[in-house]
Amino acid sequence: MKEIIMAFQGEMALKGLNRATFESTLMKITRRRLEHLGDFKVYRAQSTMYVEPKDEFADMDLAFEKVSRIFGIAALCRAAVCEKDFEAICAATLDYLGDQLRRARTFKVEARRADKSFPMKSPELARELGARVLSAFHHLRVDVHKPDVTVFVEVRDFGAYVHAGKTPGPGGLPVSTSGRAVCMLSGGIDSPVAAWMMAKRGLSLHHIHFASPPYTSERARLKVQSLGQLLTDYTGNTNLYVVPYTKPQEYIRDNAPDVLFTVLMRRSMMRIARVIAGRIGCDAIVTGESLAQVASQTLKALICTDSAQDLPVLRPAIGLDKTEITEIARRIGTFETSIMPYEDCCTIFTPPHPKTRPTLEEIEAAEAAMPGLAELEREAAEQADVVRLKVGDIPPLAAEY
Ligand code: ATP
Ligand code: MG
Repeated sequence: MKEIIMAFQGEMALKGLNRATFESTLMKITRRRLEHLGDFKVYRAQSTMYVEPKDEFADMDLAFEKVSRIFGIAALCRAAVCEKDFEAICAATLDYLGDQLRRARTFKVEARRADKSFPMKSPELARELGARVLSAFHHLRVDVHKPDVTVFVEVRDFGAYVHAGKTPGPGGLPVSTSGRAVCMLSGGIDSPVAAWMMAKRGLSLHHIHFASPPYTSERARLKVQSLGQLLTDYTGNTNLYVVPYTKPQEYIRDNAPDVLFTVLMRRSMMRIARVIAGRIGCDAIVTGESLAQVASQTLKALICTDSAQDLPVLRPAIGLDKTEITEIARRIGTFETSIMPYEDCCTIFTPPHPKTRPTLEEIEAAEAAMPGLAELEREAAEQADVVRLKVGDIPPLAAEY
C-alpha cells in the first residue's frame, strides 16, 4: 500500500489568472522544503497538490509536519492511494484505516467520484464499501451524523484515495507571491510572530538583527539565529543580517537626551534596515511592534519611527495583545526559544522614564545635534554579517533542549 500527502488549496484558488503561477510556486516551495527528507514527487491536479514518496525511505511523519507549515495550503491529509477498482479500494480501506476502525464504535463512508468513468456512482460506492467494512468489523455500527471515524474515498484522475479526513492547513499565500521584505528580528516573542504573520501573506523575508557586543553576548546572537532557523519551516531559506550596532548606540547614548534615547535608536535602526533592504531588493520593513506595549510603541513614538525612512513599515502584531502574540508563538514553535534569557540591544542603555509622547521636532533637533551618527550608521550597514539559514539545518541553541 502506498501512502501520499494531499494538500488542498485555499485562498489562492480564487486568484483567477494568477492561479497557475501560485500553484507552481507552491509546488516549487514544497519540493524545496522536503528536499532534505527524502525523494518526493510533487504534482497537482484539480486544485490539489500531491506529495508522493518515491521510495520507502521517506519520513512521512516529518514530511507531513513540514507540508502542514507551507503557506497557501488550506487543508491537508495523508491518504492511501490505490487503483481505481472497487476491490482495491476495499483492501486499501481495511489495511490503511483498520486500526482506527477497530478502535471506533461507529463510522460512515463518504465517497466522491470525480472521475466519471469509474463505474460506481458515489452513493453506491459509499454503500458497498460500508457493507464491506461492516462485514470485516462486526462491532461497528453506521452513524451518519456523529461517527467516530469517517472513511473518505475519492476517485480522482490518477487513482483512488482513502483517508480519514483533512486537517486544517496554515492558510495564507505561498511565500514570495506578495513580494520581499526585511524583518527586524530581535530575540523576543513578538518579532518572530510578526515574521510568521507576514510570510503567511506571501512575503518573502530576510531578517535583520542589531547586536551590540560586548553589551550583548554571542549567545544572544545565536538565540536570534535559532529563531530565524525555526522560522525557515514557514519562510524557506533566508538570510540573517547581523548589524554591529555598538558604535551608533553608544554615540546616541552619549550625545542625546536620555528620555529620547529609545526613539532615536529605533529611528537609527530603521535607517540602517532601509539601507540593507535597498541593497537586497526588499520593499518593506516588518517589525513586531504592538500599539502601546512599551514607551517606544505609543502612537506618537511610532509616528517618529515611521518618518525615519521611506519604506512602508508593516506591523502585523500592532493590534494584538501580548497574550495573543504569545499564543501564536507557542503554536508556531518559537516561544520556548524566545523566552531564553539573553539580553537584547534594545533593552540596554534604556532610560528609566522614556518619553511616551515625543514630537518629531524635538527628535529632529536631537538628531541635528548628532552630526557623527550618519557615518556610524553607514559603517554599521556596511559591516553587517550575513548568516545563511537553510531549511533543515539545526537551530544552534535548540539543540540543547
Ligand atoms: P520583541 O518580542 O520582538 O523583542 P518587544 O516587545 O521586545 O518585541 P521592542 O524591543 O521595543 O519590542 O522592539 C520592537 C520591535 O523592534 C521588535 O519587535 C523588532 O521587530 C524590532 N527590534 C527590537 N530589537 C531589535 C534588534 N536587536 N534587532 C532587530 N530588530 C529589533
Ligand atoms: Mg524585545
